[in-house]
Amino acid sequence: LSSSIGSSVIPIINKLQDIFAPINGDQLLKLQLPQVAVVGSQSSGKSSVLEALVGRDFLPRGCDICTRRPLVLQLENRPAVSGEEREWGEFRHLPGKRFYDFSQIRREIQAETEREVGYNKGVSDKQIRLKISSPNVLNITLVDLPGITKVPVGDQPSDIEARIRKMIMAYIKQEACIILAVSPANSDLATSDALQMAKEADPTGSRTIGVITKLDIMDRGTNARNFLLGNVVPLRLGYVGVVNRSQEDINKNRSIAEALAYEEQFFRDNPIYNGLADRCGIPQLAKKLNQILEQHIRTVLPGLKAELHSHLLIVVKELRTYGEAMESKAEQGAVLLNILTKYCEAFSAMVDGKSQEMSTK
Ligand code: GDP
Ligand code: MG
Repeated sequence: LSSSIGSSVIPIINKLQDIFAPINGDQLLKLQLPQVAVVGSQSSGKSSVLEALVGRDFLPRGCDICTRRPLVLQLENRPAVSGEEREWGEFRHLPGKRFYDFSQIRREIQAETEREVGYNKGVSDKQIRLKISSPNVLNITLVDLPGITKVPVGDQPSDIEARIRKMIMAYIKQEACIILAVSPANSDLATSDALQMAKEADPTGSRTIGVITKLDIMDRGTNARNFLLGNVVPLRLGYVGVVNRSQEDINKNRSIAEALAYEEQFFRDNPIYNGLADRCGIPQLAKKLNQILEQHIRTVLPGLKAELHSHLLIVVKELRTYGEAMESKAEQGAVLLNILTKYCEAFSAMVDGKSQEMSTK
């Protein structure tokens, strides 16, 4: 996965999120920064798609309910520095601890899930936040969400379906959320939970990409050509078909690189998908996402700018209320103010189109 992002807009957004996080705490979402969320029924392949987009193995995946809390995954492109590890993850709940071993990241996601909701399939809307720094990723924030289920199992309450739908909606109804609506090709697209929820959250389809997984395990004699062409359920931004790792591949520890090579070969060997190259494969999905994200950010920038300004005013006001006795606190505020001012300027410059190459240092 190449990090050929052609714009300096996204790193600034990611940094803004970092700056706002301590100010807003759990209300971070109020800022409506652009992010990408996956929606779909359980085991449709949501976590697999996200992992393939990131290019690293680190998400709990499998046939059971694996994703039981929203995982907010902030990818940060960081050029390689010699003498330093190239890639690592850091959790919000374990600040300062860098995870270089990605299988350990998976274990920590599982452990942190269990700390909150126990071992027995319980689900919670309390986020796990993970930042991954790497020279090989696009600068985007991805949200992995629990899948829609119908029948309560384990510790799940009887209204589990309604709860999960509500949790998903809280993310995908935001105007600044790009929805990856994941539907498996081996089920009927017309009854897809993903497409139904995406439609509810984004009726015009202006920020929904359809992702069709499991093209490799469709019924013999069927194919997804009509799905991908939008002939079954039309979608404004269209569909991308993908082939992720099967459960057997996971059990055998097949790498993402192998999986991507297999996917490429699958599409090459299947004449049915000839001529649909721009709708097939994880790299195409990454490309499409990238384009949509950039366009989207440019659209929401003015609103973000206004919001930033109003936050700035609040900080200034708060500073004025500090007496001399609060000097150190005021100093902290001043530092924050400085940072915010800088980013405000960066935003202004970008919104006004003065500079597309703004430094984020
Ligand atoms: P989630 O519940 O939507 O996050 O789904 P997961 O990503 O955990 O995947 C559920 C199961 O489906 C796992 O066993 C995956 O290996 C399998 N799977 C996902 N995508 C594909 C695919 O494209 N082809 C095949 N054969 N299996 C897949
Ligand atoms: Mg999952």
